[in-house]
Amino acid sequence: MKILFLICSFFLGACFGSFLCCQARRLRYREEHGKDSARKLGSRSVCLHCKTKLKWYDNIPILSWLALAGKCRSCHHKIGALEFLSEVGLALAFFAISTTIDITTTNPIAWVTFTVTLILTLVLGFLAIYDGAYGELPMKYLIIAIVLGAILTIIKQAQVVTTIGFTPNVFINPLGSVGILGGLYLLLYLVSKGKWVGDGDWLLGVAIGLALSDPWLALGLLFISNLLACFVMLPFYIKNRSKKIYFGPFMVIAFVILVTFSNYFMSLI
Ligand SMILES: [Zn+2]
Repeated sequence: MKILFLICSFFLGACFGSFLCCQARRLRYREEHGKDSARKLGSRSVCLHCKTKLKWYDNIPILSWLALAGKCRSCHHKIGALEFLSEVGLALAFFAISTTIDITTTNPIAWVTFTVTLILTLVLGFLAIYDGAYGELPMKYLIIAIVLGAILTIIKQAQVVTTIGFTPNVFINPLGSVGILGGLYLLLYLVSKGKWVGDGDWLLGVAIGLALSDPWLALGLLFISNLLACFVMLPFYIKNRSKKIYFGPFMVIAFVILVTFSNYFMSLI
């Protein structure tokens, strides 16, 4: 049963990855070409290069991309690695987060936390895709992420109050977490006048800080995301020094890792 649940989660994640990447492309297309030309594309999936509507069998997440070797069937224009990475990334994220829930539990709070975490992962996934592709974080989605993060904080801290009673940590932990992630990126942004990190990075930090709601996990996230960014971005950075590092995708990947292994990380501390 658990295995079936995980397989479904993986497939659902892949579908959402495909959908989110498509939405990111469409949002950008609308910003560049105006609302009217974006509306002309219709609601079905199209190749943004030749405008051909995609057949259903070219729309299967991960598999279609591999079958077509990352090219449009009609115009052979490159579809790009972003589509593939989004589908695989979201599939793995959904799979990983689904391992954290005991599917036999009847505790409604566990299911609510799980569902909100998955929805937040979708919003963060969208932000990571958009940031990875265009180096920007759309404000509307940052605000949605912050609201979802706040909901998770409230649930977590309410659980603390009901199990061990009120302690000042109920406020200190979320504030510390937000201070570490949001505060640090805001400081980097202000000190560098936006040269090192973008203006959306600190808001993303606030959203993730709220969701983690723990300063130790926030420090863990900082460590993992910077480590990932170093490994992936260093070769690009050596080639082209002027390139700004987009932290968004790395913070989101680190968030999924921390949520999945939060018990393990907390036991280390
Ligand atoms: Zn095409």
